[in-house]
Amino acid sequence: MDSDTLTFNQALLSCESLTPNDAGCQALIAQRLAKLGFEIRHLPFGQVNNLWAKRGHQEPTLCFAGHTDVVPVGDAALWTSPAFVPTIRNGKLYARGAADMKSSIAAMVTACERFVKQHPDHQGSIAFLITSDEEGQAIDGTQAVLKRLDEEKQIPKWCLVGEASSTEKLGDTLKVGRRGSLTGYFKIKGKQGHIAYPDLAKNPIHLAFKPLEEIAHLVWDKASAHFPATSLQFANIHAGTGANNVIPGTLEGNFNLRFAPGLEPEHIKEKIESIFIKHNVEFEIRWSLSGKPFYTDVNSKLIHSVTHTIEKQLGYKPVHSTTGGTSDGRFFAEYGTEVVELGPNNATIHQIDECIDLQELEALSALYEAILVDLLK
Ligand SMILES: [Zn+2]
Repeated sequence: MDSDTLTFNQALLSCESLTPNDAGCQALIAQRLAKLGFEIRHLPFGQVNNLWAKRGHQEPTLCFAGHTDVVPVGDAALWTSPAFVPTIRNGKLYARGAADMKSSIAAMVTACERFVKQHPDHQGSIAFLITSDEEGQAIDGTQAVLKRLDEEKQIPKWCLVGEASSTEKLGDTLKVGRRGSLTGYFKIKGKQGHIAYPDLAKNPIHLAFKPLEEIAHLVWDKASAHFPATSLQFANIHAGTGANNVIPGTLEGNFNLRFAPGLEPEHIKEKIESIFIKHNVEFEIRWSLSGKPFYTDVNSKLIHSVTHTIEKQLGYKPVHSTTGGTSDGRFFAEYGTEVVELGPNNATIHQIDECIDLQELEALSALYEAILVDLLK
């Protein structure tokens, strides 16, 4: 067993890097990569530490992406061993961040060490973009670094995100895209008054029925081979003063859409606003776009290589999935980078007693190395 990955992982897991605190992890990563001939740049923005490391000046660039920050421990008393004291029990390594996602980072670093030793004159370039705010605001992290890299014309062609993508066994699932997420916060304006004198008031609840009904039943697209159909769900509606004899002055609410590529946020906004206008209601609406959808084609070189390597190494074919929450992969995709997420089992992420299987940790490092060989040897 290659215990290099385990030892390095334990060092990372001992850092109490609660988001957005990096707590020294990136310095440890930079030390290892510098020894391999990576050029190291620390790119802090606001309170967030970011690391950009690159080996080589040729294209294409394969960028390993990840985050050193972790979510809070939760109720510390419920942990079998302390969350920041990595502890081995029954073939598993327990610590906050073991699955999400310090194990992936350790596996990436040791994979590079072995690869560079074997192939010091590899093709293209290898890069690392490591941030400490993926679990938090995600503004001063990957997004900010990519903006800088774009100015420098250094956007990588390929990105492998180490988020925990596997569901039962290592590499059984690859994330190849995500739906977009758009929220609309709306207010329908009426005029407050006495229930007994409706002629002197304007009831925003009554005004809301028709447009909201129509919005709820809009059909946006059909399910495709890779994405379910776009769905709009109301999450909140509120009106009323609490008294039973008052017509309220306003009704407020919000809804969220999970939408597939091919649907533009601007189109969604226009469509919904046009319904309020058609029904002649006085309204305000504020939009929040938390992520655009993306999809990396199955026939792209990156997806093809990763899929093929898993089959060769592990003997089974991964499912290509677009489900689940967001990751920093979405920010790379906006620049046209091919993105894939491949990491360990996600069963314990963000939970008490988060862990990774030790064999899986070694196999993950071997898998990353085999992908390097396939793409850059
Ligand atoms: Zn994560």
